[in-house]
Amino acid sequence: MMREIPRPSLAERTTLRLGGTAIAELVLDDVADLAALPGRLRALGGSPLILGAGSNILARDGALPLVLVRPRFMQGPDVVGEKDGKVLVRVGAGVPLPRLLRFCAARALSGLEGLVGIPGSVGGAVAMNAGSFGAETCKNIELIQIFNGETTRGFTVDALQYGYRTLSIPEEKKGFMVVEATFGLTESARDGISKRMRHNFFEKKSKQPVTAWSAGCAFKNPAPDMPAGRLLEQAGYKGKKLGGMAFSTLHANFLINEGGGSADAALALLREAREAVLQRFGFALEPEVRIVPCLSR
Ligand SMILES: Cc1cc2nc3c(=O)[nH]c(=O)nc-3n(C[C@H](O)[C@H](O)[C@H](O)COP(=O)(O)OP(=O)(O)OC[C@H]3O[C@@H](n4cnc5c(N)ncnc54)[C@H](O)[C@@H]3O)c2cc1C
Repeated sequence: MMREIPRPSLAERTTLRLGGTAIAELVLDDVADLAALPGRLRALGGSPLILGAGSNILARDGALPLVLVRPRFMQGPDVVGEKDGKVLVRVGAGVPLPRLLRFCAARALSGLEGLVGIPGSVGGAVAMNAGSFGAETCKNIELIQIFNGETTRGFTVDALQYGYRTLSIPEEKKGFMVVEATFGLTESARDGISKRMRHNFFEKKSKQPVTAWSAGCAFKNPAPDMPAGRLLEQAGYKGKKLGGMAFSTLHANFLINEGGGSADAALALLREAREAVLQRFGFALEPEVRIVPCLSR
């Protein structure tokens, strides 16, 4: 049965540890809980926010007009068949991405090695088309199951439009919740997979502040050969601090909560850095972190 938690703290539910209190949190442990969701959302008011592991979210301070919806669908990962020489692995949206990667390593299945070290849920990785080291989540999808607010539907990869940190489904203009994903993965030598994962993990750990309170990269790279981190560093923002928030000294595009930060300070620092990069280099950086609630500009 759907569980409801009143006044949930966003700071307690996001890796950046920022944000005020939402109206309520609706936790879905089972796909059958989806039937009751639209009615409960109408009754509660506010805007729904689907929350995975909260690792790409900057939540504003104060009382927020949001209802958190948490798909905790934990089925799998399971091998469910084969198609065109690929092994099909089905996994629920709530499963932590690292668990899926451990499964791939143990079963000698290749395709997702680049995603090692990304701390999200499978649903969040699909919705964001999370990627790293040349790998993209959505490139490996065969099929996804979504809920569109009325019904659950399946879509094969050719019905998806995905790009740099985005996924949309043209047929589902009002948005959707990812319920589960089926990935098509290639059988490969187990040693090679583990080696690639280890290499990617240590690369990430040496270049990014992976244990700090952050939400990953703050801004998108404005072009493939123009990393936002480099622009921020050249604009003097590496290590720059404001109100308990800071751009990391290890990687200038990681915004960190040093302990006493607030969303107001985070947004002020992001605005200041964006303006500096625009003035100096002419690039208007777009946030990669999802700022919630998203206010009209
Ligand atoms: C240390 C660190 C390193 C990171 N490294 C990377 C990296 O290398 N590459 C990268 O791409 N990202 C990286 N990230 C960012 C983040 O981990 C990814 O974007 C991740 O995929 C987000 O998943 P999540 O479950 O935490 O989603 P959340 O942060 O909870 O949500 C992110 C967005 O996805 C939506 N969403 C979540 N679940 C669903 C669902 N089931 N259905 C529909 N929408 C959903 C939310 O509404 C929100 O808009 C990093 C973050 C940290 C903290």
